[in-house]
This record gives sequence, structure tokens and C-alpha cells, in this order.
Amino acid sequence: KLHNTILELKGNIRVFCRVRPLLADDGPSTEGKVISYPTAMDALGRGIDLVQTGQKHSFTFDKVFMPDVSQEDVFEDISQLVQSALDGYKVCIFAYGQTGSGKTYTMMGNPGDPEEKGLIPRSLEQIFKTRQSLQPQGWKYEMQVSMLEIYNETIRDLLSPNRSSSDMLRTENGIGGKQYTIKHDGNGNTHVSDLTIVDVRTAKEVSFLLERAAHSRSVGKTQMNEQSSRSHFVFTLRISGVNESTEQQVQGVLNLIDLAGSERLSKSGSTGDRLKETQAINKSLSSLSDVIFALAKKEDHVPFRNSKLTYLLQPCLGGDSKTLMVVNISPEPSSAGESLCSLRFASRVN
Ligand code: ADP
Ligand code: MG
Repeated sequence: KLHNTILELKGNIRVFCRVRPLLADDGPSTEGKVISYPTAMDALGRGIDLVQTGQKHSFTFDKVFMPDVSQEDVFEDISQLVQSALDGYKVCIFAYGQTGSGKTYTMMGNPGDPEEKGLIPRSLEQIFKTRQSLQPQGWKYEMQVSMLEIYNETIRDLLSPNRSSSDMLRTENGIGGKQYTIKHDGNGNTHVSDLTIVDVRTAKEVSFLLERAAHSRSVGKTQMNEQSSRSHFVFTLRISGVNESTEQQVQGVLNLIDLAGSERLSKSGSTGDRLKETQAINKSLSSLSDVIFALAKKEDHVPFRNSKLTYLLQPCLGGDSKTLMVVNISPEPSSAGESLCSLRFASRVN
């Protein structure tokens, strides 16, 4: 029996695990159960066991959400972290997992059903509500939104106002000739050249922008014949607040990231664009893991520059920022291999 204990991620890094329910689409291979929860051992819902090829692997995380846990209950455990962006913290929340494991459901949810709203719409509602309630105390906030996609180590602006079809074309050096260069200033702010940044006043305005971004993504998908699951989606809300009576100031950032699918694609089977795509995803996901690992171990050198994703998020990952990784797991036996990889990524135990 292998027993994997989670690396004690100290400080401001948390790891949650969420197992989605079995779906009708999971097909006949759903016979048997590979995931179980050691409730007797861990009444707090922090343990998860996975059986693969007859071997049991046990993991412990900060929290494990079983399949029946609602979007509302998941958000309840995350809302404080979201709130801290209003207090001036830089926050990153990642959804990690293989394609079909529930990353987008966790982040965006099912738009058709208010009960199934995900983390992004719930976070926005909470932030704008809190902003309102802080007004009588003299707080004034300005909010800005940007949304981008990282595909093959290139940034794509999802809110570009005049997207021509040539803007969709990916070239060696970027999209439509735009470079989207990332720069960090001395104050911990990130600037991406050419990236559209929109001032927002209401949660509704942001939902409108989210729809626009979703549209940009889907247009790119048909033109380029690529799946949105092959790119990282990065939603960024910048919050700057000033208290008119006390003259206090805060600058917070909330990054909500729906990562590219973590499934291992066989390198031998892929060629050309597909191979390049696979290598780019592998590189950025392993860089992310390296960065979080180095931060957790408080190492002197943190390899932020090894991927666009980690370089973009650098100021929001180090220092006194807060990071949450939600590892999404598919429960069906045919995904057991990938689930084990995801759980190992999360606990960084080899
Ligand atoms: P991913 O983004 O990781 O590829 P999705 O979020 O698209 O995966 O989820 C795959 C399918 O599973 C979708 O049909 C989604 O609605 C469903 N699903 C995922 N998580 C849940 C959940 N917790 N409850 C109900 N349905 C879910
Ligand atoms: Mg998805």
C-alpha cells in the first residue's frame, strides 16, 4: 500500500480537491468505484483514496469536496479568499484537472441555472455587494477587468474591441502581429502591452464581458480547429480602493484561472501543431507546479520565467499573495490514471 501524504504547503497556498458526479456521458465504463473518502479517519473531509490497478493511494488536502457538494457550498469555502482581494491582497485561484473533470463548471458553472453558477459569477456578485456595503464607511473602489487566453505560450486578448479575423490568426510571434509583452513595474503591477482593460461598475457589466470573452474563445475555436481545453483562461479583476475619511488605500487583484486540460497526450502519437500544443501545455503546467513548490519551500530562486502563465502571474503568486489550487477529478474508472496524476500534481509527491 502506498501512502502519500500531502506536502505541507505552508503559508498562503491552499489545495482543494473536487470530485465531480458521474455523468450519463461517462458511459458503461463506470462500473466499480475507484474513489473513496476515508471519513472514519478524517471527519473533516480532507482525505481522498484512489484505487488504481489494485493499489490504493491516499491523499490529504486542505479540503475535499465530494460529488454532491453544491456550487454554493464550494463558494462558501472560498468566499473569504475572494473577499481578501478587497482588502488589498493579490489572489490567484486555479482550476486544474484533465478535460471533462469539471474545471469550467467550477469556475463558470452552468449559465442556464442560477444555482449552478460557478466561482467567477459568485465572486463578482460578492465583491460588488461588499463594495456597496463599505460605502458608508468612506470606501470608494475602482475596478478593472481583463481576460486573456494563453495558447502555445502566446497571449490572446479576449476583450479586444476590434477583433478582425486576422487577429485570430496565430503566428510564430503572436497573434495578428501583436506581441502582448508582459512587464512588471516596481510596484508589483503587471502590464501586458496591447491588452484591453475595461473599467467596470457592476457585476452585470462583468457578466457581459464574460460573454464576450466566451464568444471570442469559441470563434477562435472554429477558425483554428482547436479546443478551449488546450488553452489557459485568465480572468483578472483589479481593485483599487481609497477611504475618503481615513485616506487608507488598497490595491488588490483577483485572478481566476481555468487551466488547460492536464491529460497526458502521447508525444509519439502527436505531430506538428498538436505536438507543439502538447509541449506548451506540459511546459506551463509543470512550470506552475515548480513555482508553487519553490514558493511553498521558500526557496530563494523561484522559476517564474519558465512559462508565460507563471511570468504573467508572478506578482500575484509570491510575497503575501494568496493562492488556491482546486484540483478537479473525474470519478469514473477509465480516468483513474489521470486522476492519480492530478492528485500527485496537487500533492507534489512522486
Ligand atoms: P472541464 O472544464 O474540466 O473540461 P467541465 O467543467 O466542462 O470540465 O465538466 C464536464 C461536464 O461535467 C460538464 O457537462 C459539466 O456540466 C459536468 N460537471 C462537472 N462538474 C460537475 C458538478 N460538480 N456537478 C454537476 N455536473 C458537473
Ligand atoms: Mg473546460
